[in-house]
Amino acid sequence: MSGFSFPIFKTKVAGVKQSFKLEDPKDRQKYFKLKAGEEIKKIQKYLKKNTFVGFLLGKKNSGKGTYTKLFMEAVGNEHVAHISIGDIVRSVHKELSDKNKKKELVEFLQKRYRGPITVEKALNIILGRDTKSLLPTEVILALVERQIDTLRGRAIFIDGFPRDLDQISYSLYFRALMGYRDDPDFFVFIDVPEEVMDQRIKTRVICPKCQTPRSTRVLATKEVGYDQKTKKFYLICDDPACGKARMISKEGDSLGIEAIRSRIEVDDKVMRTLLGLNGIDKIYLRNSVPVKIAKNYVDDYEITPGYKYELDKSTNKVKTLEELWIIKDDDGEKSYSLLPAAVTIGLIKQVCKILGL
Ligand SMILES: [Zn+2]
Repeated sequence: MSGFSFPIFKTKVAGVKQSFKLEDPKDRQKYFKLKAGEEIKKIQKYLKKNTFVGFLLGKKNSGKGTYTKLFMEAVGNEHVAHISIGDIVRSVHKELSDKNKKKELVEFLQKRYRGPITVEKALNIILGRDTKSLLPTEVILALVERQIDTLRGRAIFIDGFPRDLDQISYSLYFRALMGYRDDPDFFVFIDVPEEVMDQRIKTRVICPKCQTPRSTRVLATKEVGYDQKTKKFYLICDDPACGKARMISKEGDSLGIEAIRSRIEVDDKVMRTLLGLNGIDKIYLRNSVPVKIAKNYVDDYEITPGYKYELDKSTNKVKTLEELWIIKDDDGEKSYSLLPAAVTIGLIKQVCKILGL
């Protein structure tokens, strides 16, 4: 697949030498303020009386949730919400095991849902009793509407919709359907090179006790161990409560992106179709920057670091070596992957522009 060739967003500020630890929430606040302080203030003012609807569009594993969470961290989350279609369906699944909640949900659907299958059949699909049918878009929209009812007055980012080509028209008229008639809406396209997603899946590990996720390649822990038998390095959970638990990878993750190839292809098709549509504003988020021009656009601390490990044979201690992580983008260009906070600067500035602030 070829890349999207989105413009590179310049986050480098001339003359500013200060550097930040972008994994630290406090440092991140200072960073957001330095690089997008004016825009953050304008968005905060706008959100006191207005809202917007943003559709997050990116391939599976491109970190859609991460960027919105950081956007909310920067502007404050009292006026912005993140809605994930997957999470809504999962929470409805849970609700159905509670008799009262189920009754309330059925009543809501009987009142607000219109569509090709019965409410009963829709519930069977949600519960997984019917695995042959897909949940119709009309049911999904009714469930989203129910969620939005609880979020009145807040701007929303929607994750997971449109999921396929047949849902595209619904997304164009979504704000009218949901009663957000005059609120601006826009698409947020997220482009992450496939090698970045592939490597992240292949190197991800979790703590078996607290489930904290890490990556042996791009998100190391403070302490690293070495297994004499397998001759492999492993991460040790940072949380003292876990008693130096050894982090492990999930089965199937070694396949990387290939395990989700068919989903990736649908996501790619949806993105390319939406990119060609007129009349709706578009935001472009680009996760990678070609190595040869990176210095002009970003600061070093905004680039995802890569970790390597070395065993000191004399002390049997593991040394962690940090370098700049280099991957190839979808056009084969040697690139760096940006840390999520740096990509979020592009989101904040483009939202500000689209809202005309
Ligand atoms: Zn742990």
